Amino acid sequence: MKKRILVTGGAGFLGSHLCERLLNDGNDVICVDNFFTGRKENIAHLLSNPYFEMLRHDVTFSLYVEVDQIYNLACPASPVHYQFDPVQTTKTSVHGAINMLGLAKRTKARIFQASTSEVYGDPEIHPQPESYWGKVNPIGIRSCYDEGKRCAETLFFDYHRQHNVDIRIARIFNTYGPRMHPSDGRVVSNFIVQALQGQNITIYGDGSQTRSFCYVDDLIDGIVRLMNLEEGSTGPINLGNGSEFTMRELAEKVIRLTRSKSQLIFQPLPQDDPRQRRPDLGLAKEKLSWQPSIALDEGLKMTINYFEALCGSPSGLDGLLNFHRQSA
Ligand code: NAD
Ligand code: UDP
Ligand code: UDP
Repeated sequence: MKKRILVTGGAGFLGSHLCERLLNDGNDVICVDNFFTGRKENIAHLLSNPYFEMLRHDVTFSLYVEVDQIYNLACPASPVHYQFDPVQTTKTSVHGAINMLGLAKRTKARIFQASTSEVYGDPEIHPQPESYWGKVNPIGIRSCYDEGKRCAETLFFDYHRQHNVDIRIARIFNTYGPRMHPSDGRVVSNFIVQALQGQNITIYGDGSQTRSFCYVDDLIDGIVRLMNLEEGSTGPINLGNGSEFTMRELAEKVIRLTRSKSQLIFQPLPQDDPRQRRPDLGLAKEKLSWQPSIALDEGLKMTINYFEALCGSPSGLDGLLNFHRQSA
């Protein structure tokens, strides 16, 4: 049955893929975004669809629409962007969650929260199961994001217990793919853009820290499965890919796949940068019958193709990088 679905952060990297998937499934989609890190280009191809609607709106302000489901993705996601205006980052997570939960309460809509592996901080347990409470610095430069997302999880559970709101929480681990912003500073986009431009590849620290990278299509499938489980399936559920790589291994893969002549250079490790990260996917497999199917090499090739095409597009990769530097 066709549902009317609100996607906040819908012009961003993950949000635009989610809007596309929900439209393909036959739904009516309202996309809300303030374009802080999102781009019109990510959703331009959807604008001619009569079942797609775009609202420029900041989720820290209230929003009155009538919907059946809400996917709450609005929030800058990369360290460079969430640290640009940290107070606004916390407001987006906390006030944004309150407003969207208020909307869900009034309309009786089911609501999904894009939480993050960052709620585990710099983890002492490896891989991270959902039962782990995390090791997060409450006053560091990553705290606006980590604690904002932790508080959002608290609000989701309190609206669930106090007001019976039907909630879904996924803790998303590092995800990559086409439509990542070329200047958002995340490691996959940084390495690919640097390799394509023949610049040095910037490894922070000695490159032995690890991450587990999930291709966007796998992740979106997991999110939609979680949203459509029977009532009472609140989560939190980890979503990501279980294969773990060091940043040095990632850099070497990107150089090989782009046939780049770029060299590795080593820069200081940012404060509170987690040493290791890999999801325990036991719960996702059991509850969602889901596991990622796209290996890193395959996903990187599709992502490299996207950035190569961006280099040849009218706005151009250089233009986009410069534009973004000016507007930041
Ligand atoms: P993104 O920056 O591409 O998308 C975020 C979107 O939210 C952007 O379009 C931005 O303009 C919008 N936005 C920001 N503040 C807003 C506000 N106040 N009001 C309305 N819109 C606002 O990042 P993404 O990778 O697509 O992340 C989407 C969500 O998934 C975020 O909540 C992020 O925390 C979460 N997440 C992503 C990852 C990942 O690896 N990509 C990992 C964990 C969690
Ligand atoms: N809200 C919204 N849209 C709605 C309903 C509520 O944006 O359709 C916002 C509104 O700003 C409100 C917040 O959600 O302050 C929390 O709503 P709730 O009903 O929980 O609290 P209250 O209105 O009692 O403060
Ligand atoms: N990183 C790096 N070079 C870069 C960008 C990031 O070595 O140009 C490292 C970063 O220090 C971290 C890892 O890559 O250890 C993942 O960083 P990202 O910002 O993508 O995600 P997060 O730290 O939020 O997991």
